[in-house]
Formats: sequence, structure tokens, C-alpha cells
Amino acid sequence: MTDEQKFILWLEGRLTAHGFTPGAIDGVFDDTAKAALTAFQRARGISPSGKADVETVAALRLSSSRVSPADRDDIPDRDRPGAADARGGPWPLQRDCTKIFGDPQTQVPDRLVMVRMPWDCRAAWNPALRITRLRLHEKVADSAERCLDRASRTFDSDARHRLGLDLSGGSYAKRRMRGGSSWSMHAYGIAIDWDPQRNALRTHAPEARLSHDDARRWWEIWEDEGWVSLGRARDFDWMHVQAARI
Ligand SMILES: [Zn+2]
Repeated sequence: MTDEQKFILWLEGRLTAHGFTPGAIDGVFDDTAKAALTAFQRARGISPSGKADVETVAALRLSSSRVSPADRDDIPDRDRPGAADARGGPWPLQRDCTKIFGDPQTQVPDRLVMVRMPWDCRAAWNPALRITRLRLHEKVADSAERCLDRASRTFDSDARHRLGLDLSGGSYAKRRMRGGSSWSMHAYGIAIDWDPQRNALRTHAPEARLSHDDARRWWEIWEDEGWVSLGRARDFDWMHVQAARI
């Protein structure tokens, strides 16, 4: 076996571990493997070249899940593990967002795509309005779609209603951070809000609904893809999840 075949085998194995199936793990870099690699790059905010460059290999080397299921069972009460997730992971730091996602004023609007909501969802500000799709940046859309699909399989409609996941607080919005002059993560199309009434900006645990124990799986689904909950990391803005580190 040549070094190149060995490398491709490794590549195919890592893509599989990260949930991007490259077809047969056979050491042949065919179209299916290339498509999987491109999807992986897009999900990790890397330029989707379809080539295993240094940045892509580094991202593939990262653990495909932050905490193994075995470890998870060993720790009966993981007290706000989101704090650690806020520092590592595949997404850029907040301050690097313009470099990675583009200028919210001139570039981001052209890079937004629609992600289908896999469950029945209403606008929190107007329950008569059905939300069927979320507008997000193309670099985070595949990842968000995977998280939503996983959540729809993890929580049935009763559980989603109890948690308030059927109430959307919005995704893309061209606005500045509250109480600041820098762009909100929503202006990059990389943040989503859920049930804003019961998770207001300054509502802390345990009052914030999404700080409760039964919401832990919800946040772990996002954290497995490197998304950051400000609630889990900083105990404020429990409505919010973003594809940027703090
Ligand atoms: Zn938000």
C-alpha cells in the first residue's frame, strides 16, 4: 500500500467518525469521498475546496465528539460543561467572524441560505406565524441542519413543547450587539434564538427554562458540533446558540 492510499484510508475513517460518510473506506479518493470532504469543510467553516489541506486535516484530527458516551455516563452531574466548549471547537472566535464569514454590511447577505425546520415551530413574537425555515450563513447551514435533525429524533413534540423549542426567537438579523457597537452574531447568520420569553437576556439559571436539566441533551447536540450556548458558558442569554467561540 502506498503512503497516499494509507492517507486516504485515514481520511475516509475520520470523515466517517465525523458523520460525513465517504462511501466505501477503500483508500480510493472518489467523487463520494470528495463530496463528503467538501461537506465536512463547509460544516467546519473551512473553504470547501474538496482538498485535504492543512486546515482540513487539523479539523479532521479533532475529536468527532467532545465527550464520549462512556465518559458522559461516568459523570453524574456535569455542571455547565459548556464553559469548556466555548473555548475550543471548529468555529472561529467572535472577533474573527468578519474574516471568516464576511462583512455583515456588504457580504453576509449574499451568503445566506435557508435551513428547513424539521418540526412545527412558531414565531415567539407572533404564534400565528409558522416558522418553516431558518436563514443562516452557508458555512454553518449544514451543521445547523444536522443538529436540528438530531434534536427532532431526540425530543418528541411534547418534549419540544415543554422546552420551548417550538418557539423561534429568530436567526439572521442585521443588528449590533445589545449595548454595544460590534455586530451581533445574528448579523453573520450564525446564531439562533429559542423561546426568548422564558430565556430573556438577563434571566439566569435556574429561572431560565433552557437552563434546566431536561434541556442538557439539547445543548449537547449543538456542542457536539462546536456551537456555543451563552447560557451554558456564561449563564446569560439562555435563548441563544452560536457558531462562534467566546
Ligand atoms: Zn441571540
